[in-house]
Amino acid sequence: MTRRVARLGRERAPLATARWVELKDGAGYVLDGAPWEGAGQTGEVLAQVDAAGRAAGWVRLPPATPSKIVCVGRNYRAHAAELGHEVPPEPLLFLKPPSSVVGPDDAVEIPPDRISSRVEHEVELALVIGRRTRRASLAEASAAVFGYTAACDVTARDLQKKDGQWTRAKGMDTFCPLGPVLVAGLDTSALALGCTVSGVVRQDGTTADMVFRPAELVAYASAVMTLEPGDVLLTGTPAGVGPLVAGDELAFEVAEIGRVAVPVRAAPAEPGR
Ligand code: ZN
Repeated sequence: MTRRVARLGRERAPLATARWVELKDGAGYVLDGAPWEGAGQTGEVLAQVDAAGRAAGWVRLPPATPSKIVCVGRNYRAHAAELGHEVPPEPLLFLKPPSSVVGPDDAVEIPPDRISSRVEHEVELALVIGRRTRRASLAEASAAVFGYTAACDVTARDLQKKDGQWTRAKGMDTFCPLGPVLVAGLDTSALALGCTVSGVVRQDGTTADMVFRPAELVAYASAVMTLEPGDVLLTGTPAGVGPLVAGDELAFEVAEIGRVAVPVRAAPAEPGR
């Protein structure tokens, strides 16, 4: 039995208005906290909320509140090969900052050409942690995952190659769209995941091709750093990564979770915005 939960706000920016809403039978049941805290229903019900969390008068917010986003590189053989790499013997971890996260009703912003001239999409299954976890066994790691959402690990490929360290390449504002909803109780052993850019299919894979499984990744990451409730772990991308430019529409999807379609636009040029 799966549970679908959206995070909705009255407007985009002030997160004080954010509400977690459980989706069932076309309605939204407002929760009194984050779903991984065992939140109960407040009794407030939103009529007409679809399975992707769309409701009139509400903006869909990222369905996780991470203190960090832990990511794994080269976790699908065919993607490692397309970048000219072997699959690493252990998971290759890196981080994205919380400031890179945007929701399913936001946009991805392309930095000015003087910073990067090659930005690419990577569709990924994202895990959302439900309990504080440190040095977890595989069983503990499995139990620590509250649920799943879809992500795009947007990457400045030129900076990734140039810098060696991936902080700039992976860390820019808007480089981690998440959504549309958080799904608990899902079997992720063989979920289709894909990405289209302006209607053209770029990535079409399955989580069955992952090298290291979700529980292995959580256990491995938790040996390095404490994972907190709401933290997000991205599990790597299948083959087919390619460029994004301003004016594109980026759509990425994981089966049973849903589809996120966001515009790609140039980042505002003026300082301070
Ligand atoms: Zn990635």
